[in-house]
Amino acid sequence: MRIAKIVIDQNTHQIDRAYDYAIPESIEDEVMEGSVVEVPFGQGNRKHRGYVLAVTETEKPKYRLKKINGGVRKVPPFSKEQIRLILWMRKEYACRLIEAIHSVGPPKAYGKVKEPEETWVELRVPKAGIQGEIQLLPGQATAQKKILQYLEERGKSQWKRMEKDLEVGIGSVKTLEKKGLIGVIKVSTPFPELMSDPEEIEPQLMLSEEQQNALVHLRKGLKEGNAPRSYLLHGITGSGKTEIYLDLMGEVVEKGKTGILLVPEISLTPQMLGRFTERFGKQVALFHSSLSMKQRYGQWKKVEEGTARIVIGARSAIFAPLKNLGLIILDEEHETTYKSEQSPKYHAREIAEYRSKQEGALLLLGSATPSMESYYKAEKGELFRITLKKRPTMHQLPKVKLVDMKEELNRGNRDMLSAVLKEKIHDRLEKNEQVILFLNRRGYASYITCRKCGYVQTCGNCDVTMTYHRKNHQVMCHYCGKKSHPIEVCPECENEKMRKVGSGTQRLEESIQGSFPKAKIGRLDTDALNEQGSHEKILEAFQSREVEILIGTQMIAKGLDFPNVTLVGILSGDNSLHLPDFRASERTFQLLTQVSGRAGRGTEQGEVILQTYKPDHYSIRAALEQNYETFYRQEIMMRELFNYPPFKELFMINFMGNEESVVAETANRVAEVIQYILKSENEKLDVDEVVLGPNPSVISKINRNYRYRLMLKDVGVSKSLLKKVIKYVCINKRNKYVPQEVHLSIDFNPYHLM
Ligand code: ADP
Ligand code: ZN
Repeated sequence: MRIAKIVIDQNTHQIDRAYDYAIPESIEDEVMEGSVVEVPFGQGNRKHRGYVLAVTETEKPKYRLKKINGGVRKVPPFSKEQIRLILWMRKEYACRLIEAIHSVGPPKAYGKVKEPEETWVELRVPKAGIQGEIQLLPGQATAQKKILQYLEERGKSQWKRMEKDLEVGIGSVKTLEKKGLIGVIKVSTPFPELMSDPEEIEPQLMLSEEQQNALVHLRKGLKEGNAPRSYLLHGITGSGKTEIYLDLMGEVVEKGKTGILLVPEISLTPQMLGRFTERFGKQVALFHSSLSMKQRYGQWKKVEEGTARIVIGARSAIFAPLKNLGLIILDEEHETTYKSEQSPKYHAREIAEYRSKQEGALLLLGSATPSMESYYKAEKGELFRITLKKRPTMHQLPKVKLVDMKEELNRGNRDMLSAVLKEKIHDRLEKNEQVILFLNRRGYASYITCRKCGYVQTCGNCDVTMTYHRKNHQVMCHYCGKKSHPIEVCPECENEKMRKVGSGTQRLEESIQGSFPKAKIGRLDTDALNEQGSHEKILEAFQSREVEILIGTQMIAKGLDFPNVTLVGILSGDNSLHLPDFRASERTFQLLTQVSGRAGRGTEQGEVILQTYKPDHYSIRAALEQNYETFYRQEIMMRELFNYPPFKELFMINFMGNEESVVAETANRVAEVIQYILKSENEKLDVDEVVLGPNPSVISKINRNYRYRLMLKDVGVSKSLLKKVIKYVCINKRNKYVPQEVHLSIDFNPYHLM
């Protein structure tokens, strides 16, 4: 008897396992590993969708099994590789099976979206007889006559077309159909193409020596028979990495293979996307979060049917069901958007590593500021490192000048802009060159505080201060989105003098406009992004030089390539240093380097003004010198010293619930149980080094839910054992230790420690 192990399509932890079902003989050939089926489940035997993870053979099952109803044909079956990936994710991320299945599988729209159809009208009688039929029609039936005439010429026509050409109604068509003269048919059509054919192939750039060298190395990795290899392309900003991606992808496609290009965020990398579609046209499929459900389905289908050979997209595009995969590229591999914040909390780089090994594809990680993890791997020889040190377009990186804002204050300048920066902006506007100003804080003022007692207006739902937005004179919580009025009377001391403290992009815009009344300014931050399509408009205006000064948050840090930008101002370079996160220094360095890299991408030398209150911090110093190595050496020492990645793994268990005491108790219980188990495995283990906390999370309340976290590190205990213990306590024995109302999530190698 054949038995299928099936996961039910419902996302709850209670049924997070594979159930045994008998395969009826009548559909034996149809049901195999990866099949999507319909099964009876639960008390009422309601119909559910199920996914077959495996098929086994048994003599006689221990108990009577339910039977599979049948296959679900609308949804394509999962491939063997996909099933393996699902099982691996389950282990690697301690996620639910169904969560892994949903990540790997087709978009939700599958099986729901109707394929688009067109109505066509065709002739059902020989053309030779048409004139005779027209004669037979009553004199006033002009519409019918016109239709027959029309079809005599063409044989058949799209109904919409005919309706427009002839200005006739569907009624006449129906009449003719009844007479058996014509037929009305529905034809399913492909989804509208997002891509067009390559219009004119741009003359290819003469690659620089460095670029050519890089390709020589990479080609070796592509050679048939070579074990798949992983590369780190460490190239300064503007060193022409895109060109290398393009050439390599071209070679892969020429060999009949397929490739994935991951970018941190598609809408923010329009230029890279443009380069690829110019070159590869309809061979490209886009996986993009702002596509409509239908478009997403269409793109997926294009990949599945094999018409698309290249997939470009953000994080989740790593699951694209390409067959014969030859290449995976992660551009800006250090970007945090590659880490998923929802279960499964995967990192696209990890999935890319897994797929490249399983499917024999070359893996290429590109960055000007590689993640500590990747650079460390390159040092150890696990990644082959290729370095690009020059910009093909010009000789040097931009000059960076540091301005100590404490000194500015001492000199009596309370403005957001230092004197130097103001002067330089003035100069660029005169010369008709463009400026980018970077401030990593949106809104107007960061918060509203009482001048007398220091009370700060907070969200109430969340343990976060409210941000003041001037446009609508409102305060807003950037975590839950709650909006309200800025307080005018202090609820603590009843003082009526409130102060707006700190400054965001909106205030900067206002301040710049004040200093340079004639300058045309554009602003790019999430507030602008929320207005559909508006960020594209802003970027276009900047491209066409309509906008002279572009103000933005980290959104403008990556990917933008505007040759006329010769000045970049960084307003508070140390904002991100203060985050309670061991990656704060790394993020700061990356951000500063990336932003600086926006300057001087054309023929003119670029300049960067870096304003900071912490001129001596090593992240700032290294960014100033634009020296990755210096930064890396310092940072890797710190990581080793404090037992952080890449030396030790970090695991985080988050607890959340609306009863604070219950959340705290649960977190404590889980911590104790884990400690107890670890201790019983190894008496000498110092469990206080391994289990840290629990503590309230940095943001201890979001949306009226209290949050606690437990951190674990593999200090003195193997990573795999620690993972096993966490899974045992939090998943297998969840019901014993964690009450229903407490939400628990596990994050192996977390990126957001807030
Ligand atoms: P990166 O991604 O490394 O920051 P890009 O690929 O965006 O750099 O390239 C920066 C600029 O240099 C682009 O305008 C690109 O067209 C140009 N460029 C790249 N390679 C060459 C080359 N070989 N010759 C001339 N210009 C080049
Ligand atoms: Zn809130």
